[in-house]
Amino acid sequence: MTRYRGYLIDLDGTLYKGERVVPSGLGFVESLEERGLSYLYFTNNSLRRPEQVAEKLRGFGYPAKPEQVVTSAQATAAFLTETLGSPSVYAIGGEGLKAALSEAGCRLTDQSPQAVVMGLDPAFTYDKMKTACLAIRAGADFYGTNGDLMLPTDEGLLPGSGSLCAGVAAATGVQPRFIGKPERPIVEYGMRRLGTTPEETLIVGDNMMTDIRAGVDNGIDTLLVFGGVTSPEEYRNGTVRATYTVGDLKEWEFI
Ligand SMILES: [Mg+2]
Repeated sequence: MTRYRGYLIDLDGTLYKGERVVPSGLGFVESLEERGLSYLYFTNNSLRRPEQVAEKLRGFGYPAKPEQVVTSAQATAAFLTETLGSPSVYAIGGEGLKAALSEAGCRLTDQSPQAVVMGLDPAFTYDKMKTACLAIRAGADFYGTNGDLMLPTDEGLLPGSGSLCAGVAAATGVQPRFIGKPERPIVEYGMRRLGTTPEETLIVGDNMMTDIRAGVDNGIDTLLVFGGVTSPEEYRNGTVRATYTVGDLKEWEFI
């Protein structure tokens, strides 16, 4: 009997790195399939729609269907509709965020929105920031898809969603409510999609401060894989403790 029936698996740094597949990631997902274990691809990236994320994964050889993808955009949309009904939303972000909000029943507008939602937006402008700040000052709730300040890429560390949110927070004095890893809403949303309890779930990822904290803060076991964002040295010096650590996913024994 295996203890973990459901796996929430991080993507970048865990299953691939930039444009390169992690070969042991392919073996890992294959083993999950063979054992009949449930798993979802679990990402803070809100830019792309689930179809696009699945397509990218299939390009690396992963057996990914859109319904196996959990993004911070979907978790944010679910959280908003659960707490606010069908709110009007001013969204700053990519196609993935806007599609998730619309599909969940939010009405996208830049006129007197009930909520401002910010995700990573490569087309971010002063004008968008201004609209967000005025809406928040007029009383709109402020949400961020995820608080990641930096985005590791082949070019180097780029500004992440959290850095864009920090600008709006500085200009309004209002802090956003974050939804993505390591926050509870995306973890609850992921488990709901998996149909597992916290005891049956394992969060797998390369980032101590997002993936592993998501488990630690929400009572879920975690598997930290080195080779991505968090180095063994950083982990040793850090305070966040994973349930298990491996240097490579092929070391995992599916307990
Ligand atoms: Mg990662």
